[in-house]
Amino acid sequence: MTSDPFARAWVEIRSAAVRRNLRGIRASVSPEVAVIPMVKANAYGLGVAGAVEAMEPEAPMAWGVATVEEGEELRALGISRPVVVFCPVPPGVVARAVEAELTLSISDLAVLERLRAEAEARKRFATIHVEVDTGIGRAGLSWDRARKWGPRVGELTRDGPVRWEGCFTHFHSADVAAEGRRVEVSGEGEERIGVASMQLQAERFRQVMEDLSLPWDGPVLPHLGNSAAALRRPDLVGRAVRPGIFLYGGGAGEGLPDPEPAVAVRARVALVREVAPGTSVGYGATYRARGPERWATLAIGYGDGLPRSLSNRGVVLLHGRRAPMVGRISMDLTVVDITRIPGVRTGDVATLVGEDGAERITVEEMAMEAGTINYEIFTGFSPRLPRVWIPGDDG
Ligand SMILES: *Cc1c(COP(=O)(O)O)cnc(C)c1O
Repeated sequence: MTSDPFARAWVEIRSAAVRRNLRGIRASVSPEVAVIPMVKANAYGLGVAGAVEAMEPEAPMAWGVATVEEGEELRALGISRPVVVFCPVPPGVVARAVEAELTLSISDLAVLERLRAEAEARKRFATIHVEVDTGIGRAGLSWDRARKWGPRVGELTRDGPVRWEGCFTHFHSADVAAEGRRVEVSGEGEERIGVASMQLQAERFRQVMEDLSLPWDGPVLPHLGNSAAALRRPDLVGRAVRPGIFLYGGGAGEGLPDPEPAVAVRARVALVREVAPGTSVGYGATYRARGPERWATLAIGYGDGLPRSLSNRGVVLLHGRRAPMVGRISMDLTVVDITRIPGVRTGDVATLVGEDGAERITVEEMAMEAGTINYEIFTGFSPRLPRVWIPGDDG
């Protein structure tokens, strides 16, 4: 690969936009609410070093990651703030979490026992946030058995090296429109998700805090919400929020305020050709020129994380105008029809997400065409695409 990040295809991220989106989350919740920006999965695929540098001036309470490895990566970058690992971890990596001074979220008492033993053995301190499963079903200790597990968590965090700092839950449908949606629940009939389910989960969480005699304003910090929850029901998020997608310019859910766009995906035009009617393009020859057409070959493909499902469906911007993708996207190349866009030359820059002139393609538009969600588009960018963080002023 050439050392010029702008040679072929790249992702641009504007630092100041990320910072403003963080302030947008802050403005939505009460001023006392702490912020734990989620920088898991390499900051949603956008580059964790750039993300942390962009948000550090906002002095967040902690950074949120998914795995111990991601936490170690932050430490290797010289980051000293608390780092919370939000996914359950296999017991084998607990010792490494202690070494790297990572805060573990606890969904399993055996992991907490191991943490205490590893911390004692190393004469180190450790901190935990206990996850409560109020309906997400993928992680957390059950909300309706708190009287069983609560006392044991208390024992393991008293008079020892492990400190209990937080207690949290995660909403399953904070992104759903305010009026809610009826969903079929496997054989159980219908259930309404959205604000109603958020309220139910928040109520269950409150019940757990009460069952464990943990005061809401005590030393164990209660926190419940992601971006969508912070924007939709700031009254339900507790004393901290854990925003992710919105920071990076991804829409957080139906009917919620738009973030400032922060990400653009661009690719160079590698070739321009005039083709005769009937000329086929791409594997499987799924598209043929309908008349004399002009095509541009872009230096980006599914090997860069451009979803192959955009084949014959997606669009790009060239010279501020929309050009449809034709034929199947291949690993390294994508062809677009530029018959109606005069003057396109080799080396011009096409925009796959972001702004060009008066036109814009949102990540949500791309995700919709690709049959997925904005999160998967961001995290799907492959290592081949350079991530270029663009500094900018905070006006
Ligand atoms: C990923 C994650 C978040 C962030 O969610 P967004 O929808 O991206 O704001 C918050 N909390 C937990 C536990 C997560 O895993």
